[in-house]
Order: sequence, then structure tokens, then C-alpha cells
Amino acid sequence: MAKCKGLEQPIPAAPAPEEEVKAGTQLITEGDLNADYFYVVQSGTFNIIISRGEEGPQTVGSISEGGSFGELALLYFAPRAATIQAKDACVVWVIDRKNFKEILAQSSTAMASEYVKYLDKVEILQPLQDEEKMALAKALTEMSFSKNEVIFQQGEKGDAFYILIEGQVSVVKDGREVTKLAASPEKASFFGEKALLSHEPRNATLQVISDSAKTLTVDKMSFDMILGPLEELRTRGKQGKSKLEGRAKPAASSSSRKFGLITRKDLRRVGLLGCGGFGAVELVEHGGDTYALKALSKGYIMKSGMQQNVLNEKNVQIMCDSPFIIKLYETYNGTQSLYFLLEPALGGELYATYNKKGLFGKDGHAKFYVAGVVNAFQHLHSKKIIFRDLKPENLLLTELGHIKLTDMGLAKVVVGKTYTTCGTPDYFAPEMIASAGHTLAVDWWTVGVLTFELMAGHPPFESAHPMQIYQKVNKGIGKVNFPPKCKGVVEDLRTHHQLREVGLDQWNA
Ligand code: ATP
Ligand code: MG
Repeated sequence: MAKCKGLEQPIPAAPAPEEEVKAGTQLITEGDLNADYFYVVQSGTFNIIISRGEEGPQTVGSISEGGSFGELALLYFAPRAATIQAKDACVVWVIDRKNFKEILAQSSTAMASEYVKYLDKVEILQPLQDEEKMALAKALTEMSFSKNEVIFQQGEKGDAFYILIEGQVSVVKDGREVTKLAASPEKASFFGEKALLSHEPRNATLQVISDSAKTLTVDKMSFDMILGPLEELRTRGKQGKSKLEGRAKPAASSSSRKFGLITRKDLRRVGLLGCGGFGAVELVEHGGDTYALKALSKGYIMKSGMQQNVLNEKNVQIMCDSPFIIKLYETYNGTQSLYFLLEPALGGELYATYNKKGLFGKDGHAKFYVAGVVNAFQHLHSKKIIFRDLKPENLLLTELGHIKLTDMGLAKVVVGKTYTTCGTPDYFAPEMIASAGHTLAVDWWTVGVLTFELMAGHPPFESAHPMQIYQKVNKGIGKVNFPPKCKGVVEDLRTHHQLREVGLDQWNA
């Protein structure tokens, strides 16, 4: 399945929403890269035409009044899959991706304005200026809890601040309830705000006593990344210069220590490791150590508009330092290509190994590899990096058979939510499809999909067309048929996706 890199293509100004179309007009042309519009048919009929190799173009169906086409264009950029031609005079309604996404983004800005009202009531946030409160509100993430769940324990290190927006919690100190907090649509309660100042131990336990509860949450690291330390904001006071400009940048990891030490001309070529979408990956040697040198053709990067993805890949990979993630040691700028000097993984691709050795359905193997992925994500998420492109092809093996996550092209540092729809359709989480903003939680969804794929040999929401995949994703894991050989993991997986629904899996978020 092709991946959707979530390219931000320039989109022409929005046309009038209602358009008359003359008979014979092609509104959409198969393979067209200008794929920005979605159409609803008010009157008339359109033919769907697909080219079938030597047989030439064939009409495979039609769309008339009330029907629609081109809906994928609202989600992300992808070349058109068929030609749509007016059979007679038609009237259509049109919307383009840019406007559609802007409308969705507006609704989340409206939501953030509501959240600002809660923040206004928090005493220690008083020194924040209006635009700072808005930035903080946009980074709040919603968490759900079930009855009796402990939100935090007395004595444990505090790292997040909570606004209770639904439900009731009990505040327990030294084993005795000291008070109850309840939220109603008119009145939110908040707790744990001291954690934004320091990691002091919690001075009480907060436990849910209603059937369920919902909070808006921000942790200290996110807060510091958006606004800088709250301590400094308090010294500055409300009138001082806004901190929004001087946000803390995440630091490069120690794995970048080799930067500047290895020059490209000193690398000795040993052999070819593989071919990627942008060039070859070679095994090279330097001072007795081996590396993988990945070349990315500059011409091809420009042609496909992937400059931002390549920069992301570099910036994110520099931040990582985990035995479960391929390390980046150096980058080079050649005349034709850019180069990444990477840690080598000599055991090949996980996907190839699964196919060659018939490992699909073996739960010992699935557990081992999934555990590696969980470790990789734990590391990425601790640095607020969202990966967004988990699939067997992006997992490599070392010569000892350990797993290494690779390909940071879609990874990004995210505080709170981000909006670009990207990844691989089979691995899209519902909120990715809804385009209403997604958090680090989408990565945990993909862990569930990967587990299923390693067990069943195919992804759970598989379909011939992306739109059908999205319909299945939205129906949820409960509607998926599990092959008999995976019955053992069925319950685990359902629980995983249910846990995710209530936000419990966000132990790092
Ligand atoms: P695509 O976008 O098609 O996935 P890509 O440009 O992302 O390709 P990679 O997937 O990173 O390229 O690399 C292509 C192939 O090179 C991999 O499938 C793998 O076989 C090999 N390869 C990449 N990185 C390494 C590495 N660090 N160690 C060993 N082999 C590697
Ligand atoms: Mg790849």
C-alpha cells in the first residue's frame, strides 16, 4: 500500500461551491497529481472510467444525484485512482482539502478558547498572557479514566496537571478522604498544578469515584517546551515580554557524538544493503566499524516535494538514543545526493524474514518483536516524538535478531496535537482519519495493528480501497474477524484497543 506523506501541496483558491459541468467534461483524470477537490453530485450523471492496460479505458460504473467522488482528496494528497467524466449536463458541489482542513482546525481553535476559560481559574497560571494561555490550551490532551482508577498516588513524583471536565474524584491523604472534586459542564475542577512548577511528590492520592471521568492534561515537559519554565513566567509577571518566541528546543542525544568525526571520503564501500525510494543503501567501513550509508537523490526529493520530510528525518533521528532505534551518526551533502550515515542492521527487514521463514501466527515471535517496538515508542514518546509510520517494512533486524525501528520521514516532535494526515492507510487510527488532530496515541493504535498483522499475516482492516479501510477502522476492532490461530491474542488485542479508547495506554503522553 502506497504511503501518504501528507504533502502540503499548494492548492488554488477555492472555487464557488456550486458548479455547472458540461456533458463530456472530465472533472477528475486518472493518475492526476492535482487531486485537491471532493465533489457531491446535485444533478446529472458521471461515468467512472479506469484504464485497463492493453484493453484501454473502461467504464466501470456511474455516479448520479446524491452521490459523491474524490473524497480521499479531503484527507491527504494521493494521485487520482479513476477518471470521472460527465455523461450529461451536471451540477456539482465542490470542497477542497485546504478549506476542509481549515474548517476542522477552526473547531479545535474554538475548543481551545473554551479551555482557556478553565485555565483562567488556575491561580498559579495567572502570570500567563492571553496568547500563552491559548497556546497552552491547544496542547491540552483529553484523558479518560474508569471507576476506581487512581489518577496519581500520594508520594509519587508529580509530572502533570489535570483539569477535571467530567466525573467525580476523591482526594485521599494518608488513607483518609479529605474532600471530593466534581466536574459539571458549568464548572471544572483542577488538581496537580504544582507539578508544573517542580517534580515534588504528590501530597494526596486522586481516585475516580464516578463511573468514568475525563480530564484535560498537560505535563511539565510539554509546558516547558511551549512556554518555558513556569517559575520564570511567574518572576516575569503578566506584563513582561512573551515567552512564546523562546521555546525550549529538544536537545540532540549523545548518539550524535560522532558528528564531525567521520568524513565521507574516508568511508570504504563494502557492498549494497538495499534500495529505498530515494536511492541505494550501502554497507561501508571506517576504522574497523561498519555503517549503513543511505543516499537520497536531491533531484528526486525536490520532484516529490519531500524536503520537509527529509529534514524531519534528520532532526528527529539525531534526538534518538535507543537500542531499539537505528542511530544516525552523520549526514553529508553531496553534489547529487544527501547522505545519512546510519547504524547498520545486518539481519535484513523483519517483513522479508517473516515471509521467508513463515513466522506469521507464531505468538512467541510476535511478542518479542512487539515488545521491541513498545520500547522504541517509549523512547520516542519520552522525547515527545510521534512516529506515525509503523509497519513491518520499517522494522529491521540486527545480526543477533534484535529489532530496530527505522525511517523517521513522518516522525515529528509534537506537544499536544498535530493535524497532517499521513502514514499507511492500513495503520491509520480513527482520529487520523477524522483529521481533527491526533496525539502520540496514534502510535499505540499502530502497535495493535502490527500485532494483528504479525499474527494473522494481513492487517485487520484490509480492503482493496482506502475508503473501505477507513470505514472498517471507524467500526473498530470489535467488528474484525480474527483467524482461529490468533484466538489466544484476541482478548489481549481487544483490551489493548479498549484501553487506548479510555486513554490508559498513554503512560508516556
Ligand atoms: P521507502 O520509502 O521505500 O521505505 P526508504 O527510502 O525509506 O524507502 P529505507 O527503507 O530506509 O529507504 O531503506 C531501503 C532498504 O535499505 C531497506 O529496506 C533495508 O533493506 C536497507 N537498509 C536501510 N537502512 C538500513 C540499515 N540501517 N541497515 C541495514 N540495511 C538498511
Ligand atoms: Mg523505508
